[in-house]
Amino acid sequence: MRIRIADVTKQYVREGSLRTAADEPPALDHISLDIADGETVSVVGPSGCGKSTLLRLVAGLETADSGTVYYDEHDVADVPPQSRGIGMVFQDYALYPTMKGAGNLKYYFDVHRRTEEESRARAKEIADIMGVGFELLLGQQTTTLSGGEQQRVAIARCVVRDPTLFLMDEPIVNLDAKLRESTRMEMAKLLKRYGVTTMFVTHDQQEAVFMGDRIALLRAGRVVQVGSFDELYYSPANLFVASFFGSRPLTVLPATVADRAVHAGEVSWPLPAGLADRLAPGPVRVGVRPEAWRVAGAEPGQGAPMAVDRIESVPAERLTLAHGTVAGARATVVVPAGTTAEGLRLVPDWDAAAFFGADDEVALHTPGPPDFF
Ligand code: ADP
Repeated sequence: MRIRIADVTKQYVREGSLRTAADEPPALDHISLDIADGETVSVVGPSGCGKSTLLRLVAGLETADSGTVYYDEHDVADVPPQSRGIGMVFQDYALYPTMKGAGNLKYYFDVHRRTEEESRARAKEIADIMGVGFELLLGQQTTTLSGGEQQRVAIARCVVRDPTLFLMDEPIVNLDAKLRESTRMEMAKLLKRYGVTTMFVTHDQQEAVFMGDRIALLRAGRVVQVGSFDELYYSPANLFVASFFGSRPLTVLPATVADRAVHAGEVSWPLPAGLADRLAPGPVRVGVRPEAWRVAGAEPGQGAPMAVDRIESVPAERLTLAHGTVAGARATVVVPAGTTAEGLRLVPDWDAAAFFGADDEVALHTPGPPDFF
């Protein structure tokens, strides 16, 4: 099923608040978003940006002030949540407590008068996908299961119902890191196997990337950018998108473009011809990712000195990082193994640097995805 969210707004009026609705920023501020049939879209953004509200609105648990939600081409405003054919999993999902895990999976089939055989076959199929140990969970009373185990059963129960739309709101946020990773794999496998259209809400960029065919990044009730990870990472629409993605912080250099060079603090870096032609002179912010710096030679004018606080080696990723300050900005930089703190000079890899407006922070130039092959 296709989902189309068309120019939706939602403003909460807080009970007991002396402030009028007009004082509160809207939870959803003209949001439009399409989800293709069978696609998983991750909705990601900082806390309070409207992710849950958007999901609840698509579910029919909230009503929009304006705008429309379509399931295929049907406006579903008058369809109650329980008639929408959706499966939902929340952060703290309640299972039917008196039943065993398997009962939770089979319940839907029992209620809907499907055959015992069909219900058992479907539960088995899902247990197979959910991997080792899952069948053991099904044999236990749900009250004896840990939070993580309950959540895995809840997700499976949701899929067993054959929903036309799957809505998940931080379903695995409460699990420990290892379990989160394996559950993430299980969920991805389930979604692929059944091809259910899915909206997946998370505040975790890694999870958003892992689960989503596409990612929608929200900020203050608005969609800032929708696209694949590569699009958001290499062609960010603005500095907020660029800063949001990446496992280590982006360095943001307040700088000026003049005389075909970038001037930042005490430093001047000449620009390559193509880039110099493209950039208008004036104040900018330059975004440089940790992996997008090059160590420069010792000759003066080649690189900016980095004041290094710490060299860190990350064996699991076979990386060495230098933390410190360069051209007046905090920076984390991937450096060659064996690099020492003294005399480190850097220059941005201009093929991988992004330029943003100094005031509006809108992208002026982004590198685009690199050619890996
Ligand atoms: P997120 O899921 O991204 O953390 P939410 O959708 O929960 O964000 O919230 C968006 C905004 O709406 C926040 O400012 C939040 O405080 C507000 N909000 C959410 N639910 C309610 C509610 N029931 N009543 C009043 N304000 C709410």
